[in-house]
Amino acid sequence: MDSVLARDWIWAFATAAHAEKRRLTTLDSAIGDGDHGVNLCRGLSRVRELLLRDEEAPGAAGELFTETGALLRSHVGGASGVLYGSAFQAIGGALPMSEVDVDRFADALDAGLAATVKLGAAVPGDKTMVDAFTPAVTAFRDFRSAQPADVGTVSQVPARARDLADAAQAAAVAARDGALATIPMQARKGRASYLGPRSIGHLDPGAASTELLFRSLALAAK
Ligand code: ADP
Ligand code: MG
Ligand code: MG
Repeated sequence: MDSVLARDWIWAFATAAHAEKRRLTTLDSAIGDGDHGVNLCRGLSRVRELLLRDEEAPGAAGELFTETGALLRSHVGGASGVLYGSAFQAIGGALPMSEVDVDRFADALDAGLAATVKLGAAVPGDKTMVDAFTPAVTAFRDFRSAQPADVGTVSQVPARARDLADAAQAAAVAARDGALATIPMQARKGRASYLGPRSIGHLDPGAASTELLFRSLALAAK
């Protein structure tokens, strides 16, 4: 993970959220207050402005994630703003100034998930973004640890890039499966929980946007 990939990831997420704004909002209309897509896009528009402003003198990846998190916290509004905001701030805080390898980046993703869980107190099965985030982070790490050691690799740099792309792809698939798995769940956190059993049979909007987050990482890392 370096600052170029960090920018590409965040830019891809903002683009995906804008492309699927209506869908995210429609999902939230079914079991929430119908603003998830609008909320996310409001915050991510600010983030895009930040990326454009910083284009001339890009900072370190960690710094960019931390600033992104702060913008999401203050401009998304709604539960998802503080949850995504804290996740990005934690990812940023876990990254050193220098470029990091896949294992360190996996640690940072873990820190992001932990921040979200600490703040929202949701566990897998509660029908939230955590249901997509948790399997994605696990898949990212497991993919990496399942790989044989890089012995005899001709060039270390392309091997690393491929690892990251493959791990991100595995995370994206896991996030998608995790999001789909929220459909039969009854919500136990957030607004959807007010509906009780009537929340069953709907895809959780936050899990859907977390799928976009990891799909964007896979796209950026390709
Ligand atoms: P709000 O519900 O305040 O309108 P959004 O519509 O932007 O906020 O976001 C709703 C999403 O936030 C839900 O679909 C769910 O995934 C996520 N969410 C809500 N509460 C929690 C929580 N306590 N922990 C984790 N995720 C949560
Ligand atoms: Mg909402
Ligand atoms: Mg709302």
